[in-house]
Amino acid sequence: MSAKGKSLFFRKKIFRDCFIAIVLSVAAIPFSSFAQKEPPQDFRRELSKAKAERFALMYLAEASQTQNQTLYDVIYYDLDLDIDPTAETVSGSVTMTAEVVSDSLAEAELNLLNNMTVSQVTWAGGPLGYAHSNDILTVTLPMTYYLGETFTIVIYYSGTPSISYGAFGFDTYGGDPMIWSLSEPYGSRSWWPCKDIPSDKADSVDIRITVPDTLIVASNGTLRSETDNGSTKTYWWHEEYPITTYLVSVAIHPYTVFSHWYHYSLTDSMEVRYYVFPDHYDAVQENYGKTVGMMELFSDLFGEYPFINEKYGHAEFIWGGGMEHQTITSLGWWGEYLIAHELAHQWWGDMVTCNSFHHIWMNEGFATYSEALYSEFTYSMARYHSDMAAAKYLGGGTIYVPDPSDWARVFHSGLSYNKGSWVLHMLRHVVGDSTFFQILKTYYADARYQYGTATTEQFRDVCEDESGMDLDFFFHQWIYEEYYPTYKYNWSYLENGGQYEVSLDIEQLQSNYIFKMPIDITFEAAFGETTLVVWDSLATQSFNLVIGEEPLAIFIDKDEWILRDVVEPITNPTFARGILLVNGVDFNTYGSSIWTAYEDSAFWGSYDISFWDCFDETGLGYPSNLPPPLGHGSVPPDTIKQFSTVIWVGNNYLGDLSEWYDTPIMAYLQAGGNVLLMGRDGQSFVLEPLRTYLGITWREESVNTINDCISAYPGLVDIGLIGTQSYCAVFDTSLATMESALLFSETTTFSTHRGLGVWRKPADGGTHRLDGAQFVFISGRPYRYDHDALRSNVEFILGDFFGEPYDPLTGAAKKLPKLAFHLEQNYPNPFNPVTNICFTIPEKSHVSLKVFDVTGRLIDTIVAKEMKAGTHTVTWDGTDRREQTVASGVYFYKIVAGSHIDTKKMVLIR
Ligand SMILES: [Zn+2]
Repeated sequence: MSAKGKSLFFRKKIFRDCFIAIVLSVAAIPFSSFAQKEPPQDFRRELSKAKAERFALMYLAEASQTQNQTLYDVIYYDLDLDIDPTAETVSGSVTMTAEVVSDSLAEAELNLLNNMTVSQVTWAGGPLGYAHSNDILTVTLPMTYYLGETFTIVIYYSGTPSISYGAFGFDTYGGDPMIWSLSEPYGSRSWWPCKDIPSDKADSVDIRITVPDTLIVASNGTLRSETDNGSTKTYWWHEEYPITTYLVSVAIHPYTVFSHWYHYSLTDSMEVRYYVFPDHYDAVQENYGKTVGMMELFSDLFGEYPFINEKYGHAEFIWGGGMEHQTITSLGWWGEYLIAHELAHQWWGDMVTCNSFHHIWMNEGFATYSEALYSEFTYSMARYHSDMAAAKYLGGGTIYVPDPSDWARVFHSGLSYNKGSWVLHMLRHVVGDSTFFQILKTYYADARYQYGTATTEQFRDVCEDESGMDLDFFFHQWIYEEYYPTYKYNWSYLENGGQYEVSLDIEQLQSNYIFKMPIDITFEAAFGETTLVVWDSLATQSFNLVIGEEPLAIFIDKDEWILRDVVEPITNPTFARGILLVNGVDFNTYGSSIWTAYEDSAFWGSYDISFWDCFDETGLGYPSNLPPPLGHGSVPPDTIKQFSTVIWVGNNYLGDLSEWYDTPIMAYLQAGGNVLLMGRDGQSFVLEPLRTYLGITWREESVNTINDCISAYPGLVDIGLIGTQSYCAVFDTSLATMESALLFSETTTFSTHRGLGVWRKPADGGTHRLDGAQFVFISGRPYRYDHDALRSNVEFILGDFFGEPYDPLTGAAKKLPKLAFHLEQNYPNPFNPVTNICFTIPEKSHVSLKVFDVTGRLIDTIVAKEMKAGTHTVTWDGTDRREQTVASGVYFYKIVAGSHIDTKKMVLIR
């Protein structure tokens, strides 16, 4: 990421946080959950979480259709419903016309939750037999139907849709009824009988809703009529385009309604109609005003707005996000990118729907990528790239959802949204810009998928036809495999007759899969840049390239067209400058809690350090024990290679993750440097291949509560908490490699203890340069651990594990810093009968520690031997040299250690 890109990225982050601020100002709406979740850097994370939470309510629903439902294809629904906000009931009828697509059909199964009561099912006005159990309504048809024949049945029913299902709500806003639906993925069955599966679209739907006459009903398609019945009104909406079940919606409130117009030709225009809460009318104007422009852009890029004979619209509802209901998006707030996302779904999700929720990325990845396209064509290419950078997902899991009833996986923001958007971003670079945009247009226009459904493979086929390339490898590795490539490279060149022959070696370090991708190789020369493309597909691959100018520098995938990590080569490391402490916690955000940890030297103890700040302190200034920072942002290779150890105080929340990614940590370790990483959200920091390097597996995504941090290694001490530890990484305590050691564990939250600290120790132990690098990770916000205990542990790790301080001249570990001689007051004091005496000696010496009474008579000798430098504790049990108990009174203890002498007084009380 370039510096320019980075500043844009931060601006964008702040910008997106503003949406959340706006939402919070609307106190009447139950959006407060937005405020408590962290990190808020990505509204999609919130959106997808909200979708996932809803899905959690529904996940017990049968995720797939019944066998019977595969035998018929729905052609038409007519919902004719009375919705009573006082009684909170839905009652009326649903008519379904379907065509038999099997040899024969004698009964038809529909989805409808058991709590809804069916009163009658009819055919041509006459009653039919039916059974309703296990949330399935089984209707006995009047005769056996055969392939290609159609039948129409009417189901009369009533009830209160289950609140626990979360797909239909009777709420209020501003004291008035606010009735809404949101049926994705399997919620339609909670309020109307239907075939509740995304692959079967009805060709058209009528929706007639009768409500008290003070209310306004927004729904799909066009408004055919508005009939005044006296105290009630009936709104008749008609959707003429095919529509999948979960997109049929209602939003009901005494809305303020206004319109814009989309002029799509010289003579034609289409209404864009907004239904807003009256008190939001002013607030929504600015961003709603961008909707028509977005529609023009997407129509240009993809093909005409798919429902051009009807309308588009927004209907406000009470839910913390947006839902792309066909022709009438439901919106919980009015962020610019939320509007763009839901509008893009009209093409990707509504017109072409994922065939099943295995392929949800074809809805959510496409809509998320469309946000970046909106950025590119409305603002700048730099903004596009910073959007994509913000959507990077480097965690595990496949984009393909193995189990569509796994709610967390279907709406996983990292996989279905962000990594899904990266698939299109990468495809664009693989096939080239003009082919890519032609693919989108061809896919849009393909009669097999338009107003229908598609799978990943069907989209792949379109891409292959349009590009003439075999793209199996591409979709396989990105949709069905996990992670991404980590490229490590080395290069050199020779001059040969005015040409420069470059040999470039690229290695893929990740362990799960070897990726095949075209990589941009950019050479910087005196007169400009040259970019060549290499197709890399092996674990280790060599390339010979020729350029006309002497190369000064080389960049691998400079513009980040690949979801990857690049390990910058570190050449000729010196490791001569000792310890570099990198701060990844913003002093301006965290104020005193981080400031006091620094003041206490909690992260480095008595060692000398150099200091690097990912941020730029602007408020309090730095504590006086901290040297001025050498730099800000990520640590460049030429800087990091000068230090023997890097201590990284990590955070991620409004933090340093991108700086961590941009600092060549892996290359530094491979060059022999040592790293101590302390930080929350370790899953984001310790990615492949660092995980493999440490030999750990994570057992939890992130744990929001830990209660203790217990030492699991001799010499380390337990660390108490001085604040909440959220987003902690806890890992399996059985390590996979013999070269790793568990340092701390969490024992009170989990029945099986989980690891909080781990050390990668080289096979032969000893000091780092000779035996390879060492890496220690301690999970949790480091400043929310007890400062004294943390300092003690860090000193132990630096001294005993890393061999710091390091003498670059001799290559040997120096002695630990000189300790001061000190005799402490005994404790307890007064005492009976045992007391502790603690003393520190600066070097190995003969120690004599004796007890005298007030007359100067020797009572006992506690120590008389040679002892190591350090702090020692001994006890005296109130007896003399013959083990006889001595009387109460004042005694003196005197230490002689080499040239040091001291005496203190103590009181024995019997
Ligand atoms: Zn979406």
